[in-house]
Amino acid sequence: MMRSTLFLLCLIVAATAAAAPEHSPRPGGIAIVDVGTSKLPKPSVHYDSKPALVLRNLDRWNAVVGIPLDTQPGAISLLVNGIEMDVTVTDHAYAEQRLTVKNQSHVTPDQAQLDRIGRERKIIDSALNRFREVPVEGISLAPPVDGPRSSSFGLRRFFNDQPRSPHKGMDIAASTGTPIKAPRDGIVTATGDYFFNGNTVIVDHGQGYVTMYCHMSEIAVAEGQPVATGEILGAVGATGRVTGPHLHFGTYLNGTAVDPAVVLITPESPR
Ligand SMILES: [Zn+2]
Repeated sequence: MMRSTLFLLCLIVAATAAAAPEHSPRPGGIAIVDVGTSKLPKPSVHYDSKPALVLRNLDRWNAVVGIPLDTQPGAISLLVNGIEMDVTVTDHAYAEQRLTVKNQSHVTPDQAQLDRIGRERKIIDSALNRFREVPVEGISLAPPVDGPRSSSFGLRRFFNDQPRSPHKGMDIAASTGTPIKAPRDGIVTATGDYFFNGNTVIVDHGQGYVTMYCHMSEIAVAEGQPVATGEILGAVGATGRVTGPHLHFGTYLNGTAVDPAVVLITPESPR
């Protein structure tokens, strides 16, 4: 009895350690920075003129800042209550990926499609940059679908040999119709059928922490709807610019795409 209780305790400690995202100050990573005692009011933190997430960690305030993929290694400056604080960004080499896409219009859109893409970009950017001032506890996420995760975040992509922006999410392999679950509580801030992303849902988890789900076969939620952890957002599909069914899962902090692998709890961990 005693032994099994001890074993269980060890498991819980290990799971907690695995679930705590680490300071990963690389392009596409997350800087977790001590910004003072929580005996004082929560400081305001900005990076690149955008407000950043600040959460309580025991008796300290921690800023949790997404680092853009195109950041050069070296010092970046946060503004903490208006005072500069430097963070050193390390180098990270992302791989290259070459894809062949059959639908040529998804590679070289015509003017009407470019207009549509521009309109959709505004809606998506607005949802990704939303900042709702609510307390946020930790940044760990439960997996939105079970399935093999690719390590594709940050890939420098070429579609039919034409360079495109780097891959800003994680692709999780799953068959069409697999339910997609909210990885934590939030509010749905955008839904739509977009040119590149197909059927898409964007969820605001507070203080600029935002998740995005693309290429869905169906959408089960509406804009403005609160969702709880585990609630069904829709189903995996192959809509938009894809080569087959999968979930494109994006995680954003201060309007910046960060590697979902940093915040996803591992499948082995209890949820
Ligand atoms: Zn993707």
